[in-house]
Amino acid sequence: MSVHYELRCRECGKTWGNVPRSFCEDCFSPLEIAYDYDSLRKLARREDLSNRAFNMWRYLELLPLPEDFAAPNAIGGTPLVASRKLAAHWGLKNLYLKNDAVCFPSLSFKDRVVGTALTAARRFGFETVGCSSTGNLANAVAAQAAQQGFDVCVFIPADLEPAKVLNTAVYGARIVRINGNYDHVNRLCAQIADRFHWGLVNVNLRPYYSEGSKTHGYEIAEQLGWTLPDNVVVPMAGGSLITKIAKAFQELVTLGWVEAKPVKFFGAQATGCSPIADAVKRNLLRFQPQKPNTIARSLAIGNPADGPFAMKLIRESGGWAEDISDPEIVAAIKLLAETEGIFTETAGGVTVGVTKKLITQNRIKPEESTVVCITGNGLKTTDAIAAEFPASEAIAPRLDAFEAYLDAQLGTTAATAKA
Ligand SMILES: *Cc1c(COP(=O)(O)O)cnc(C)c1O
Ligand SMILES: [Zn+2]
Repeated sequence: MSVHYELRCRECGKTWGNVPRSFCEDCFSPLEIAYDYDSLRKLARREDLSNRAFNMWRYLELLPLPEDFAAPNAIGGTPLVASRKLAAHWGLKNLYLKNDAVCFPSLSFKDRVVGTALTAARRFGFETVGCSSTGNLANAVAAQAAQQGFDVCVFIPADLEPAKVLNTAVYGARIVRINGNYDHVNRLCAQIADRFHWGLVNVNLRPYYSEGSKTHGYEIAEQLGWTLPDNVVVPMAGGSLITKIAKAFQELVTLGWVEAKPVKFFGAQATGCSPIADAVKRNLLRFQPQKPNTIARSLAIGNPADGPFAMKLIRESGGWAEDISDPEIVAAIKLLAETEGIFTETAGGVTVGVTKKLITQNRIKPEESTVVCITGNGLKTTDAIAAEFPASEAIAPRLDAFEAYLDAQLGTTAATAKA
């Protein structure tokens, strides 16, 4: 397979081949991977997928992988759950949950972006890899780097959730805690990528990294029987995932794998860090950076790199963006768990809570098909909801103790039930 993709500037269109670089040196705009879709049409056929395993690498021709690529692991391939109880609760007829809370290997959609980024790191000859992270990305980098034998150095805000820090440390990664928020960490990482010959997945490898997000979108289309939904609700941190799901859908249309159809893109943020949603709601030309203050730490990016592209996509698709408060995030985490048996982290709470708000606003309608993207696992953010579930008192291992317990819990009904 000859290489059918390369870096292209999103503003001036200049091409840069395949190198570890994320900005155009002429105009300082971000680079992205551009494909030669004419040769892709000959190279990639939908029928070929039928004898490939269900994970993100089944779409290998549509990703920026080297010619000698061999799948190193089985990332992605997560369930698309057809909702019954939550759909009924909200009065929707066609509600789906794309569940990357169970993504392999580190339980968030960040496993996908690290899959393509480390492939690029290997190809460009990096021995040390790393990232700036709000938590999940560090988990994913540490896990896959351990498997593939890279040295790892990740950079995180000092006050991240303990579970997310532990989920990085366990793989033997070097963790540098920074006194500052994610935006401070990210600025430092840009300087580090310049100074050291390191592959920082969301800095100098960012164009290769973000292509991995497309596989979340390919899977949704394939799991819907090679059709596109009417609506997608996506959590936004840097604003990359939402734009890459759109790119995935567009590519499937270009290749003739799905029929063209208007899809509305809805962005979800926490009110305590909502620069993109704020700009959409106030119809601003540019978003205003914010200082994050929310329990949705994985979405707490006050100066989102792909914010302008996310805003443009949301507007042009006829979608919308919304934000919800921290108590609403907690309520939404519980609602998803109680209705669908899915335990998501705070980012998933944001997405579910915002979906509810969009339904109330009549922007999402009952008969439409709607996919809600659940991007991370609740076991990593237990601190956010622990206060809701205080431990109950322990009882003696005796029947009379249990009866007394039931009486105390239910009043006289326990005695009645027994009789
Ligand atoms: C990083 C992250 C996102 C958003 O990613 P962007 O592409 O930066 O917008 C969403 N959910 C979770 C759980 C994440 O870790
Ligand atoms: Zn340029």
